[in-house]
Amino acid sequence: MVPGEARSGWRKAWVSDLRHYAGLLRRGGLKRRYVRARIWHHFTGAMRDAGRLFCERPAIRQARLALRTPQFCLGTVAVGLLGIVAGSGGLTVTRAMLAPPYADAKRLVLISEGGEVPGARHTIPAALLEYWKAHNNTMSGLAGYRWDAHGTGWSTAEFGGVVGAAPRIFLLHRIREWKPADARQDLAVVGRLKPGVTAATAQNELRDLAAQYNPYRRLSAADQAQVMPLVGRTRKPFWAYGVVCSSTMLLLLAAACIGMRTDRRRIGRIRGRYWAYFCAKSVLLPLTLALVIWEFSRATSFTLNGGATFVAEPIFVWLVILACGAIVWWCLADQWRRCRACLRTLQYPVRIGSLGAVLFDHAGMELMCCQGHGSLYLPAVSSDYVQGGGWTALDATDIDSEIVPR
Ligand SMILES: [Zn+2]
Repeated sequence: MVPGEARSGWRKAWVSDLRHYAGLLRRGGLKRRYVRARIWHHFTGAMRDAGRLFCERPAIRQARLALRTPQFCLGTVAVGLLGIVAGSGGLTVTRAMLAPPYADAKRLVLISEGGEVPGARHTIPAALLEYWKAHNNTMSGLAGYRWDAHGTGWSTAEFGGVVGAAPRIFLLHRIREWKPADARQDLAVVGRLKPGVTAATAQNELRDLAAQYNPYRRLSAADQAQVMPLVGRTRKPFWAYGVVCSSTMLLLLAAACIGMRTDRRRIGRIRGRYWAYFCAKSVLLPLTLALVIWEFSRATSFTLNGGATFVAEPIFVWLVILACGAIVWWCLADQWRRCRACLRTLQYPVRIGSLGAVLFDHAGMELMCCQGHGSLYLPAVSSDYVQGGGWTALDATDIDSEIVPR
């Protein structure tokens, strides 16, 4: 870790220091294991010193300076976005939500039966499905399907005619392999409406047919067959999480507008680069979050019948709202601690005053731009009446022209 030219000298100095210290301790009559423990402590000190020398190497120092630039921050986000696009195979799920990969997808419907719990959906009994296939007039095709957690799907013979041959992604669920299903099993049902027929008309017909098929089975309104457009259902997570993430974005952009108005009032002009950087963050971070949710999370998972899974709806919506809160907080905190001129993060924190004496004097933290553009004062309490927080612009050209003694 120690740079090459200083290494042998550094080593010699520390080894002799440790030897001398060990000798001192032994002469003092300490037991061997105490001596060892003390020496170990000294040794970690030597390692810290080596770490400090390592960090002072020009390359490392350059890298640490680069970490503070706005380009690094935006570059990291951009690399993350590219990683998402590459890792998801070109945004497969998002594309499947926006443009379902089936021919004439608007006519596809999911058919299920309701249950006692509101929102619950059940599969259709195999015999009833056969009865519907034989007697309905609103559907051009009905097919049964199911899948398992490992990406294997099973479908009845009509599936190819209704949806299309072996789709790679069905209901946002990646399916690696399709196998023929046992038609005697209860399966989830997908249907294709005849042209010009609405889902509501088809639903009424299927309900009437179900009543004819089994007149003794009394069903409440919730238990009856439900026909739901497939496109609308698959786009639901797109809208739900899209709205949450875009409102985060709008909130941050509104904050930028307020900041720019304040700029114009206080200094008579808008700091363009400073606010452009803030807006770039405000757009890119919620976008990244939305893409991660759609492509890699379970938020877009459906049950077989098109119902929401427990993970997707109650839990995930809360997690996403928390993540959006974190984005807003970080964007504002990061922006506040950057130089108003060069956008590097401010350095050299100096603590001023003490919180205990805040009644009579101000207490807070002062940070400087390492290029000399100005200093930022952060009061320890937000309601500091002696000295409010703020940015003081300094004349950087003065600092550059100052003669530095060598
Ligand atoms: Zn600066």
